[in-house]
Amino acid sequence: MQVLVPAVALPFLWLAAALPLAGQAPSTAMPTVQSTQSPVGDTTALAKEAEGWLADLIRIDTTNPPGNEQAAAKYIAGILTKEGLTPEFLDLAPGRSALVARLRSAAMPDPSRALLLVAHMDVVGVDKSKWTVDPFGAVIKEGYMYGRGSIDDKGMLAANLAAFIALKRSNARVNRDVIFLATADEEQGGEASIRILIAKYWDKFAAGFALNEGGRVILKNGKVQYVAVQASEKVPVDVAVIARGPSGHASTPTKDNAVVHLAAAVAKIGGYTASVRFTTIVRRYFEQLAPLEDDELAKWIRSLDTPDRGEHAQRFVSDANPLWNSMLRDTIAPTMLSAGVRANVIPSEARAMLNVRLLPGDTIDVLLADLAKSVNDPQIRFEVQPDAGLAAPPSSLESDFYVTITKAASQEFSGAPVLPFLSAGATDSAQLRLHNVQAYGLSPFPMSDEDSRRMHADDERIPLASFDKGVDFIARVVSEFAASKQ
Ligand SMILES: [Zn+2]
Repeated sequence: MQVLVPAVALPFLWLAAALPLAGQAPSTAMPTVQSTQSPVGDTTALAKEAEGWLADLIRIDTTNPPGNEQAAAKYIAGILTKEGLTPEFLDLAPGRSALVARLRSAAMPDPSRALLLVAHMDVVGVDKSKWTVDPFGAVIKEGYMYGRGSIDDKGMLAANLAAFIALKRSNARVNRDVIFLATADEEQGGEASIRILIAKYWDKFAAGFALNEGGRVILKNGKVQYVAVQASEKVPVDVAVIARGPSGHASTPTKDNAVVHLAAAVAKIGGYTASVRFTTIVRRYFEQLAPLEDDELAKWIRSLDTPDRGEHAQRFVSDANPLWNSMLRDTIAPTMLSAGVRANVIPSEARAMLNVRLLPGDTIDVLLADLAKSVNDPQIRFEVQPDAGLAAPPSSLESDFYVTITKAASQEFSGAPVLPFLSAGATDSAQLRLHNVQAYGLSPFPMSDEDSRRMHADDERIPLASFDKGVDFIARVVSEFAASKQ
């Protein structure tokens, strides 16, 4: 509508011919005029189009294993090709491919300036009997789209695609390459994962900056409280706990029964609490969080690192939210148990699996030494499993891109602040950060805790209004960072 202002001085006939909508403008004003429209323009129609892509992507079953990401890659390639782009398949394993496409800034672009938009195509499995709708049906009900992957991560996949296409359609000159990347095997981290993708095809998507999953737009009482931008993540390590003892006839039990020793060890591990350590990002997160919370909670958040009240504050804050507990310390979750072959046979071995999440910088050996002391049982030993995650350096909170995200978030969500975030969950960003990429995690969709908890759970769903908002947010971030201003 701004274009009408200078046109007023022009002869009426020219105005009427060139801008046929001019006369209608006052009566067709949108009921919800956005004062800070995205630089790529009104994204209302784009978001509706992207809802269709999201529905189609949900209907392509990419449950991992086996993944079958190639089917989703083909679908996306079709959309990109229609827009005049030239997507390329990056084959990883039979039926498993990533997909990459690029908007070029120059004949010889500088990869260190490039912006990578990443989302994964695979999803975790479902227990169909626990869903109230078809998990692969993209059913729309009461303003939600239901489906496995609607939040994690097909929502962001569709939103990234929309932002990428919006930039192409706008014909804006880009001042850095913008690369769209759909990855495979994020949920299992196996033969088709980003680790393998980087090893085989790094030059196809090398970039200095990346936007990925891993953050959140926190919706509280219907309002965006803050935008959590993931700049670091915890490091997953699986550890087996193995109890050994003599096997024997169950009619004459002895005190060295491996099952009993394992059970006692798991109980002690369950009660173990690692000590708090503040990483730079976590410290800054809590500093910025305090003014957003109510007075009582704010008081304890501000006391987290004080000598006199710190211990109580750490307990209070950890109890208030399991996510905060995970951000403050290494955590250990026992997840699997196995022992025995018959009810009347005492087995010689019993095993439990622990899923450990280390703060980046902490080492598993130090934690296990501490655990061994607390378990204090010569019949128990720990065995670190292969394929542990790698600790990556955090992304900078001073980079131009972080500043752009902060500004865009404030415009998008009526002044909502951005808080740097260390995610308890692992993402593809760790591998990117190990390759010098300043990677930041969003989930651009404003979501309540209740909806967010459905990620990986039954009846996963995304509010369509939040999806549309997320499309606008990503389009705004991308065009702010990559489109040349006139
Ligand atoms: Zn994910």
